[in-house]
Amino acid sequence: MSRRSGPTAGASLPYSAAARRLADLGRRFYARGWMLGTSGNLSAVVARDPLKLAITRSSVPKGALTPADVLEVNADGAATRRGPGRPSAETQLHCVIARDRGAGAVLHTHSVWSTILSERHANDGGLTIAGYEMLKGLAGVTSHEQREFVPILDNDQDMTRLGRRVSAVLDEHHGAHALLLRRHGLYTWGETLDDAERHVEIVEFLLEVIGREHHGATV
Ligand SMILES: [Zn+2]
Repeated sequence: MSRRSGPTAGASLPYSAAARRLADLGRRFYARGWMLGTSGNLSAVVARDPLKLAITRSSVPKGALTPADVLEVNADGAATRRGPGRPSAETQLHCVIARDRGAGAVLHTHSVWSTILSERHANDGGLTIAGYEMLKGLAGVTSHEQREFVPILDNDQDMTRLGRRVSAVLDEHHGAHALLLRRHGLYTWGETLDDAERHVEIVEFLLEVIGREHHGATV
């Protein structure tokens, strides 16, 4: 059982600290194979009212991410600080999740297992994960008996439209800790950047377990 975060529940970090931590996370997630090439985006809330996020900029190899590759954007996903580069198109989804979930951080990976499982379970509208001890790493979860539903949305290049669908899914599944975009990747979030980082590790672990079980131990 998880609780729904209110719109002002999440933490915020100073911009320079957020930029350092997001760059560090990007390099580590790249090393795990979760953000290869320029894929994925990482953000942390740096101001709540009005909402501002520090977010990795577009087209930067995640294995070489530095704090200079992080931008500040407003609630509409527009850059508020001058600097090289531009926000990713998917910035709008980070803004929607930070706003609707009151999240302090939103992390988006493009892992192999999230890509495979988001296709395999797409026709079910999502994937239920239950019976694993690692579920207790999700905020508010106290038992392996948790039935964690991870919604799956069809991918879309129109981020305004996709943002509306993400908002509707978050409203429908208010206990969810994560969602998948079909043949694309994982979005997860947390009240703090530490929570969101742990959620990436937990959900990626669980997706890999489920994926490998399906194929047998030789995969
Ligand atoms: Zn993506």
